[in-house]
Amino acid sequence: MDFSFYMPTRIVCGRDCVVKNAPLFRAFGKRALIVTGKSSAKNGSLADAEAALAANGQAYTVFSDVPNNPTVESVRAGAAAARSFGADFIIAVGGGSPMDAAKAIAMLARQDAEDIFSHPIGKDVLPMVHIPTTAGTGSEVTPYAILTNDERETKQSISAPSLFPQIAFLDGKYMQDLPQDTTVNTAIDAISHAVEGMLSTAAGELSDALAREALRSLFGEYENLRQGRYTPESRQNLLYGAAAAGMVIANTGTSPVHTLGYSLTYYHGVPHGRANGLLLPAFLARCLQKDRVRTERIYAALGMGAEEFSRKLAVLLGERESYPDSELRAWANKAAQSRKKCAVAFSEEELYGVLKESVGR
Ligand code: NAP
Ligand code: ZN
Repeated sequence: MDFSFYMPTRIVCGRDCVVKNAPLFRAFGKRALIVTGKSSAKNGSLADAEAALAANGQAYTVFSDVPNNPTVESVRAGAAAARSFGADFIIAVGGGSPMDAAKAIAMLARQDAEDIFSHPIGKDVLPMVHIPTTAGTGSEVTPYAILTNDERETKQSISAPSLFPQIAFLDGKYMQDLPQDTTVNTAIDAISHAVEGMLSTAAGELSDALAREALRSLFGEYENLRQGRYTPESRQNLLYGAAAAGMVIANTGTSPVHTLGYSLTYYHGVPHGRANGLLLPAFLARCLQKDRVRTERIYAALGMGAEEFSRKLAVLLGERESYPDSELRAWANKAAQSRKKCAVAFSEEELYGVLKESVGR
Protein backbone atom coordinates (compact mmCIF):
# COMPACT_ATOMS: atom_id res chain seq x y z
CA MET A 1 0.00 0.00 0.00
CA ASP A 2 2.22 2.85 -1.25
CA PHE A 3 0.73 6.30 -1.43
CA SER A 4 1.08 9.87 -0.26
CA PHE A 5 -1.85 12.08 0.69
CA TYR A 6 -1.92 15.71 1.81
CA MET A 7 -4.90 17.75 3.02
CA PRO A 8 -4.12 20.81 5.14
CA THR A 9 -7.57 22.46 4.85
CA ARG A 10 -9.87 22.32 7.86
CA ILE A 11 -13.39 21.45 6.73
CA VAL A 12 -16.39 22.73 8.65
CA CYS A 13 -19.68 21.41 7.32
CA GLY A 14 -23.31 22.06 8.22
CA ARG A 15 -26.15 24.54 8.26
CA ASP A 16 -25.13 28.04 9.43
CA CYS A 17 -21.55 26.83 9.95
CA VAL A 18 -20.02 30.22 8.99
CA VAL A 19 -21.83 32.25 11.64
CA LYS A 20 -21.71 29.47 14.25
CA ASN A 21 -17.94 29.24 13.86
CA ALA A 22 -17.17 32.95 13.57
CA PRO A 23 -14.35 32.72 16.18
CA LEU A 24 -12.35 30.62 13.70
CA PHE A 25 -11.82 33.76 11.59
CA ARG A 26 -10.01 35.52 14.43
CA ALA A 27 -6.72 33.72 14.00
CA PHE A 28 -6.09 35.31 10.59
CA GLY A 29 -5.80 38.97 11.54
CA LYS A 30 -7.73 42.22 11.77
CA ARG A 31 -8.52 43.04 8.14
CA ALA A 32 -10.13 40.85 5.50
CA LEU A 33 -10.62 41.20 1.76
CA ILE A 34 -13.75 39.36 0.67
CA VAL A 35 -13.34 38.12 -2.90
CA THR A 36 -16.62 37.29 -4.59
CA GLY A 37 -18.87 37.54 -7.66
CA LYS A 38 -22.35 39.01 -7.96
CA SER A 39 -24.61 36.24 -6.68
CA SER A 40 -23.27 36.09 -3.10
CA ALA A 41 -25.13 39.31 -2.24
CA LYS A 42 -28.41 37.50 -3.00
CA ASN A 43 -27.92 33.98 -1.62
CA GLY A 44 -26.97 34.86 1.97
CA SER A 45 -23.32 33.82 1.76
CA LEU A 46 -21.85 37.32 1.71
CA ALA A 47 -24.13 38.41 4.57
CA ASP A 48 -22.95 35.43 6.68
CA ALA A 49 -19.27 36.19 6.03
CA GLU A 50 -19.88 39.84 6.94
CA ALA A 51 -21.79 38.86 10.09
CA ALA A 52 -18.96 36.57 11.23
CA LEU A 53 -16.40 39.34 10.73
CA ALA A 54 -18.59 41.93 12.46
CA ALA A 55 -19.04 39.58 15.44
CA ASN A 56 -15.25 39.47 15.77
CA GLY A 57 -14.77 43.22 15.25
CA GLN A 58 -12.72 42.54 12.12
CA ALA A 59 -12.61 45.15 9.36
CA TYR A 60 -13.29 44.14 5.76
CA THR A 61 -13.80 45.37 2.25
CA VAL A 62 -15.47 43.56 -0.64
CA PHE A 63 -13.91 42.95 -4.07
CA SER A 64 -16.75 41.68 -6.25
CA ASP A 65 -15.28 42.12 -9.72
CA VAL A 66 -14.45 38.48 -10.40
CA PRO A 67 -15.73 37.36 -13.82
CA ASN A 68 -16.60 33.75 -14.65
CA ASN A 69 -13.37 32.05 -15.76
CA PRO A 70 -11.18 34.64 -14.01
CA THR A 71 -8.64 36.59 -16.00
CA VAL A 72 -5.12 37.66 -15.00
CA GLU A 73 -6.29 41.27 -15.16
CA SER A 74 -9.06 40.64 -12.63
CA VAL A 75 -6.76 38.94 -10.09
CA ARG A 76 -4.21 41.73 -10.43
CA ALA A 77 -6.99 44.23 -9.64
CA GLY A 78 -7.97 42.11 -6.63
CA ALA A 79 -4.37 41.98 -5.39
CA ALA A 80 -4.13 45.78 -5.69
CA ALA A 81 -7.30 46.03 -3.58
CA ALA A 82 -5.81 43.66 -0.97
CA ARG A 83 -2.62 45.70 -0.79
CA SER A 84 -4.28 49.08 -0.55
CA PHE A 85 -6.67 47.85 2.16
CA GLY A 86 -3.79 46.22 4.04
CA ALA A 87 -5.62 42.89 4.13
CA ASP A 88 -4.30 40.27 6.56
CA PHE A 89 -6.38 37.51 5.01
CA ILE A 90 -8.79 36.66 2.21
CA ILE A 91 -12.31 35.27 2.35
CA ALA A 92 -13.49 33.72 -0.92
CA VAL A 93 -17.26 33.53 -1.35
CA GLY A 94 -18.73 32.00 -4.49
CA GLY A 95 -18.24 29.31 -7.09
CA GLY A 96 -14.96 28.12 -8.55
CA SER A 97 -14.35 31.45 -10.26
CA PRO A 98 -14.17 33.63 -7.11
CA MET A 99 -12.49 30.82 -5.14
CA ASP A 100 -9.74 30.42 -7.74
CA ALA A 101 -9.36 34.18 -8.16
CA ALA A 102 -8.98 34.50 -4.37
CA LYS A 103 -5.99 32.12 -4.42
CA ALA A 104 -4.20 34.14 -7.10
CA ILE A 105 -5.06 37.36 -5.27
CA ALA A 106 -3.75 35.96 -1.95
CA MET A 107 -0.49 35.13 -3.71
CA LEU A 108 -0.15 38.36 -5.72
CA ALA A 109 -0.87 40.44 -2.63
CA ARG A 110 2.45 39.19 -1.23
CA GLN A 111 4.56 38.26 -4.27
CA ASP A 112 5.47 40.17 -7.40
CA ALA A 113 4.91 37.92 -10.39
CA GLU A 114 5.66 39.33 -13.81
CA ASP A 115 4.26 36.27 -15.55
CA ILE A 116 1.78 34.64 -13.23
CA PHE A 117 1.90 31.31 -15.10
CA SER A 118 5.66 30.80 -14.82
CA HIS A 119 6.15 32.47 -11.43
CA PRO A 120 7.56 30.06 -8.81
CA ILE A 121 4.96 30.46 -6.08
CA GLY A 122 6.57 30.91 -2.67
CA LYS A 123 5.18 30.27 0.78
CA ASP A 124 4.28 33.89 1.48
CA VAL A 125 0.58 33.91 0.61
CA LEU A 126 -2.26 35.55 2.55
CA PRO A 127 -4.26 32.99 4.55
CA MET A 128 -7.61 32.09 3.02
CA VAL A 129 -11.06 31.00 4.13
CA HIS A 130 -13.27 29.61 1.37
CA ILE A 131 -17.06 29.51 1.32
CA PRO A 132 -18.28 27.68 -1.81
CA THR A 133 -21.71 28.53 -3.21
CA THR A 134 -21.63 25.94 -6.00
CA ALA A 135 -21.06 22.21 -5.51
CA GLY A 136 -18.56 21.25 -8.14
CA THR A 137 -15.01 22.49 -8.37
CA GLY A 138 -13.84 21.53 -4.89
CA SER A 139 -11.56 24.55 -5.13
CA GLU A 140 -12.14 25.09 -1.40
CA VAL A 141 -9.86 22.09 -0.73
CA THR A 142 -7.38 22.22 -3.63
CA PRO A 143 -4.09 24.03 -4.21
CA TYR A 144 -5.12 25.00 -7.77
CA ALA A 145 -6.29 28.28 -9.28
CA ILE A 146 -7.43 28.06 -12.91
CA LEU A 147 -7.02 31.30 -14.83
CA THR A 148 -7.60 32.27 -18.44
CA ASN A 149 -4.32 32.44 -20.35
CA ASP A 150 -4.97 34.53 -23.46
CA GLU A 151 -1.43 34.14 -24.72
CA ARG A 152 -1.82 30.38 -24.96
CA GLU A 153 -5.54 30.60 -25.73
CA THR A 154 -6.60 28.24 -22.97
CA LYS A 155 -7.25 27.98 -19.27
CA GLN A 156 -4.24 27.15 -17.17
CA SER A 157 -3.75 26.28 -13.55
CA ILE A 158 -1.27 27.71 -11.12
CA SER A 159 -0.58 25.51 -8.15
CA ALA A 160 1.44 25.38 -4.94
CA PRO A 161 0.92 23.94 -1.44
CA SER A 162 0.64 27.53 -0.17
CA LEU A 163 -2.56 27.97 -2.22
CA PHE A 164 -4.57 25.53 -0.09
CA PRO A 165 -7.21 27.48 1.84
CA GLN A 166 -6.86 27.24 5.63
CA ILE A 167 -10.59 26.63 6.17
CA ALA A 168 -13.49 25.55 3.94
CA PHE A 169 -17.04 26.14 5.20
CA LEU A 170 -19.62 23.87 3.54
CA ASP A 171 -23.19 25.14 3.87
CA GLY A 172 -25.62 24.01 1.16
CA LYS A 173 -28.21 26.66 2.07
CA TYR A 174 -26.44 29.15 -0.22
CA MET A 175 -27.36 26.96 -3.19
CA GLN A 176 -31.09 27.07 -2.57
CA ASP A 177 -31.67 29.20 -5.67
CA LEU A 178 -28.71 28.02 -7.73
CA PRO A 179 -30.08 27.67 -11.28
CA GLN A 180 -30.70 24.13 -12.54
CA ASP A 181 -28.11 24.34 -15.34
CA THR A 182 -25.35 25.49 -12.96
CA THR A 183 -26.37 22.84 -10.41
CA VAL A 184 -26.11 20.09 -13.03
CA ASN A 185 -22.91 21.38 -14.63
CA THR A 186 -21.12 21.73 -11.31
CA ALA A 187 -22.26 18.29 -10.10
CA ILE A 188 -20.88 16.79 -13.33
CA ASP A 189 -17.59 18.61 -12.70
CA ALA A 190 -17.36 16.91 -9.31
CA ILE A 191 -18.21 13.50 -10.80
CA SER A 192 -15.51 14.11 -13.37
CA HIS A 193 -12.96 14.94 -10.65
CA ALA A 194 -13.67 11.69 -8.79
CA VAL A 195 -13.40 9.61 -11.97
CA GLU A 196 -10.32 11.39 -13.33
CA GLY A 197 -8.62 11.15 -9.94
CA MET A 198 -9.01 7.37 -10.04
CA LEU A 199 -7.26 7.40 -13.43
CA SER A 200 -4.20 9.18 -12.08
CA THR A 201 -0.77 7.68 -11.55
CA ALA A 202 -0.86 9.49 -8.19
CA ALA A 203 -4.07 7.71 -7.09
CA GLY A 204 -3.80 5.60 -3.95
CA GLU A 205 -6.07 3.77 -1.50
CA LEU A 206 -7.10 6.93 0.32
CA SER A 207 -7.80 9.07 -2.76
CA ASP A 208 -9.74 6.14 -4.29
CA ALA A 209 -11.77 5.76 -1.10
CA LEU A 210 -12.63 9.47 -1.23
CA ALA A 211 -13.51 9.19 -4.92
CA ARG A 212 -15.90 6.32 -4.20
CA GLU A 213 -17.45 8.30 -1.36
CA ALA A 214 -17.82 11.34 -3.63
CA LEU A 215 -19.51 9.27 -6.35
CA ARG A 216 -21.83 7.64 -3.82
CA SER A 217 -22.96 11.03 -2.55
CA LEU A 218 -23.19 12.70 -5.97
CA PHE A 219 -24.95 9.85 -7.80
CA GLY A 220 -27.23 9.43 -4.79
CA GLU A 221 -28.67 12.76 -5.99
CA TYR A 222 -29.07 11.66 -9.61
CA GLU A 223 -32.89 11.63 -9.65
CA ASN A 224 -32.99 15.06 -8.01
CA LEU A 225 -30.48 16.38 -10.53
CA ARG A 226 -32.61 14.96 -13.35
CA GLN A 227 -35.83 16.46 -12.03
CA GLY A 228 -34.34 19.71 -10.76
CA ARG A 229 -35.84 19.20 -7.29
CA TYR A 230 -33.62 19.74 -4.28
CA THR A 231 -34.11 19.56 -0.54
CA PRO A 232 -31.63 21.23 1.82
CA GLU A 233 -30.25 17.73 2.39
CA SER A 234 -29.67 17.13 -1.34
CA ARG A 235 -27.82 20.44 -1.59
CA GLN A 236 -25.61 19.40 1.31
CA ASN A 237 -24.99 15.96 -0.24
CA LEU A 238 -23.85 17.60 -3.49
CA LEU A 239 -21.58 20.03 -1.66
CA TYR A 240 -20.09 17.25 0.45
CA GLY A 241 -19.53 15.05 -2.63
CA ALA A 242 -17.87 17.92 -4.48
CA ALA A 243 -15.51 18.60 -1.57
CA ALA A 244 -14.62 14.90 -1.32
CA ALA A 245 -13.87 14.87 -5.06
CA GLY A 246 -11.82 18.07 -4.59
CA MET A 247 -9.67 16.30 -2.00
CA VAL A 248 -9.12 13.58 -4.59
CA ILE A 249 -7.81 15.91 -7.31
CA ALA A 250 -5.82 17.90 -4.77
CA ASN A 251 -3.73 14.74 -4.54
CA THR A 252 -4.03 13.26 -8.03
CA GLY A 253 -4.63 16.10 -10.49
CA THR A 254 -7.11 15.71 -13.34
CA SER A 255 -6.83 14.01 -16.75
CA PRO A 256 -6.85 15.02 -20.44
CA VAL A 257 -10.64 15.32 -20.10
CA HIS A 258 -10.07 18.62 -18.31
CA THR A 259 -7.46 19.78 -20.82
CA LEU A 260 -9.77 19.05 -23.77
CA GLY A 261 -12.63 20.69 -21.91
CA TYR A 262 -10.65 23.92 -21.46
CA SER A 263 -10.77 24.42 -25.24
CA LEU A 264 -14.57 24.09 -25.31
CA THR A 265 -14.71 26.71 -22.56
CA TYR A 266 -12.05 29.03 -23.97
CA TYR A 267 -13.29 29.10 -27.57
CA HIS A 268 -17.03 28.57 -27.10
CA GLY A 269 -17.86 29.49 -23.51
CA VAL A 270 -19.10 25.99 -22.61
CA PRO A 271 -19.42 25.92 -18.79
CA HIS A 272 -16.50 24.03 -17.22
CA GLY A 273 -18.42 21.09 -15.74
CA ARG A 274 -20.54 20.65 -18.86
CA ALA A 275 -17.41 20.54 -21.01
CA ASN A 276 -16.05 17.68 -18.89
CA GLY A 277 -19.38 15.85 -18.94
CA LEU A 278 -19.59 15.98 -22.72
CA LEU A 279 -16.19 14.28 -23.01
CA LEU A 280 -15.90 11.98 -20.00
CA PRO A 281 -18.01 8.95 -21.11
CA ALA A 282 -16.13 8.51 -24.42
CA PHE A 283 -12.78 9.00 -22.71
CA LEU A 284 -13.58 6.48 -19.97
CA ALA A 285 -14.94 3.92 -22.43
CA ARG A 286 -11.58 4.05 -24.26
CA CYS A 287 -9.74 3.61 -20.97
CA LEU A 288 -11.55 0.29 -20.57
CA GLN A 289 -9.76 -1.06 -23.62
CA LYS A 290 -6.37 0.22 -22.47
CA ASP A 291 -6.41 -0.53 -18.73
CA ARG A 292 -9.27 -2.90 -17.98
CA VAL A 293 -8.52 -3.49 -14.29
CA ARG A 294 -8.29 0.18 -13.35
CA THR A 295 -11.29 1.21 -15.43
CA GLU A 296 -13.50 -1.62 -14.16
CA ARG A 297 -12.73 -0.39 -10.66
CA ILE A 298 -14.06 3.02 -11.68
CA TYR A 299 -17.27 1.64 -13.19
CA ALA A 300 -17.71 -0.39 -9.99
CA ALA A 301 -17.38 2.84 -7.99
CA LEU A 302 -19.97 4.43 -10.28
CA GLY A 303 -22.22 1.41 -9.74
CA MET A 304 -22.88 1.10 -13.48
CA GLY A 305 -21.28 0.12 -16.76
CA ALA A 306 -20.07 2.24 -19.66
CA GLU A 307 -23.41 2.36 -21.46
CA GLU A 308 -25.46 3.32 -18.44
CA PHE A 309 -22.92 5.98 -17.42
CA SER A 310 -23.02 7.48 -20.88
CA ARG A 311 -26.83 7.42 -20.96
CA LYS A 312 -27.20 8.95 -17.50
CA LEU A 313 -24.86 11.84 -18.28
CA ALA A 314 -26.54 12.37 -21.67
CA VAL A 315 -29.91 12.81 -19.93
CA LEU A 316 -28.43 15.53 -17.71
CA LEU A 317 -26.59 17.26 -20.55
CA GLY A 318 -29.49 17.47 -23.04
CA GLU A 319 -28.75 18.62 -26.56
CA ARG A 320 -25.04 18.48 -27.38
CA GLU A 321 -22.85 21.11 -28.95
CA SER A 322 -21.00 20.07 -32.11
CA TYR A 323 -17.90 21.52 -33.74
CA PRO A 324 -16.12 21.14 -37.08
CA ASP A 325 -13.19 18.80 -37.54
CA SER A 326 -10.67 21.61 -37.94
CA GLU A 327 -11.38 22.75 -34.38
CA LEU A 328 -11.34 19.25 -32.92
CA ARG A 329 -7.93 18.60 -34.52
CA ALA A 330 -6.48 21.79 -33.04
CA TRP A 331 -7.84 21.01 -29.56
CA ALA A 332 -6.49 17.44 -29.65
CA ASN A 333 -3.09 18.81 -30.66
CA LYS A 334 -3.12 21.29 -27.80
CA ALA A 335 -4.19 18.67 -25.24
CA ALA A 336 -1.57 16.17 -26.45
CA GLN A 337 1.12 18.65 -25.44
CA SER A 338 -0.13 19.14 -21.93
CA ARG A 339 1.22 16.88 -19.20
CA LYS A 340 -1.22 15.10 -16.93
CA LYS A 341 -0.61 12.33 -14.44
CA CYS A 342 -3.06 10.06 -16.25
CA ALA A 343 -2.17 6.35 -15.97
CA VAL A 344 -3.81 5.68 -19.34
CA ALA A 345 -1.84 7.19 -22.22
CA PHE A 346 -3.74 8.77 -25.10
CA SER A 347 -2.19 9.72 -28.44
CA GLU A 348 -3.25 12.91 -30.20
CA GLU A 349 -5.28 10.80 -32.66
CA GLU A 350 -7.08 9.08 -29.78
CA LEU A 351 -7.86 12.42 -28.13
CA TYR A 352 -9.27 13.55 -31.47
CA GLY A 353 -11.37 10.35 -31.45
CA VAL A 354 -12.80 11.27 -28.02
CA LEU A 355 -13.68 14.76 -29.28
CA LYS A 356 -15.16 13.43 -32.52
CA GLU A 357 -17.40 10.95 -30.73
CA SER A 358 -18.43 13.47 -28.07
CA VAL A 359 -18.84 16.79 -29.89
CA GLY A 360 -18.06 16.05 -33.53
CA ARG A 361 -20.22 16.91 -36.54
P1 NAP B 1 -18.60 29.89 -11.43
O1 NAP B 1 -18.02 30.47 -12.68
O2 NAP B 1 -17.91 30.17 -10.16
O3 NAP B 1 -20.13 30.29 -11.25
C1 NAP B 1 -21.07 30.02 -12.28
C2 NAP B 1 -22.25 30.96 -12.19
O4 NAP B 1 -23.05 30.65 -11.06
C3 NAP B 1 -21.84 32.42 -12.05
O5 NAP B 1 -22.69 33.18 -12.87
C4 NAP B 1 -22.08 32.71 -10.57
O6 NAP B 1 -22.33 34.08 -10.36
C5 NAP B 1 -23.29 31.86 -10.29
N1 NAP B 1 -23.45 31.42 -8.91
C6 NAP B 1 -22.49 30.94 -8.07
N2 NAP B 1 -23.04 30.56 -6.89
C7 NAP B 1 -24.36 30.82 -6.98
C8 NAP B 1 -25.47 30.63 -6.09
N3 NAP B 1 -25.31 30.04 -4.88
N4 NAP B 1 -26.70 31.02 -6.48
C9 NAP B 1 -26.87 31.56 -7.71
N5 NAP B 1 -25.87 31.76 -8.62
C10 NAP B 1 -24.62 31.37 -8.26
O7 NAP B 1 -18.74 28.30 -11.71
P2 NAP B 1 -18.07 27.02 -11.06
O8 NAP B 1 -18.45 25.89 -11.92
O9 NAP B 1 -18.34 26.94 -9.61
O10 NAP B 1 -16.51 27.31 -11.24
C11 NAP B 1 -15.90 27.18 -12.49
C12 NAP B 1 -14.48 27.65 -12.41
O11 NAP B 1 -13.74 26.83 -11.48
C13 NAP B 1 -13.77 27.51 -13.74
O12 NAP B 1 -12.95 28.63 -13.95
C14 NAP B 1 -12.97 26.23 -13.58
O13 NAP B 1 -11.84 26.19 -14.44
C15 NAP B 1 -12.57 26.32 -12.12
N6 NAP B 1 -12.20 25.04 -11.48
C16 NAP B 1 -11.28 25.07 -10.47
C17 NAP B 1 -10.87 23.91 -9.85
C18 NAP B 1 -9.85 23.96 -8.75
O14 NAP B 1 -9.40 22.94 -8.25
N7 NAP B 1 -9.43 25.13 -8.35
C19 NAP B 1 -11.43 22.67 -10.20
C20 NAP B 1 -12.38 22.67 -11.23
C21 NAP B 1 -12.76 23.86 -11.83
P3 NAP B 1 -21.25 35.07 -9.67
O15 NAP B 1 -19.86 34.50 -9.88
O16 NAP B 1 -21.42 36.39 -10.31
O17 NAP B 1 -21.57 35.09 -8.22
ZN1 ZN C 1 -13.08 20.63 -12.95
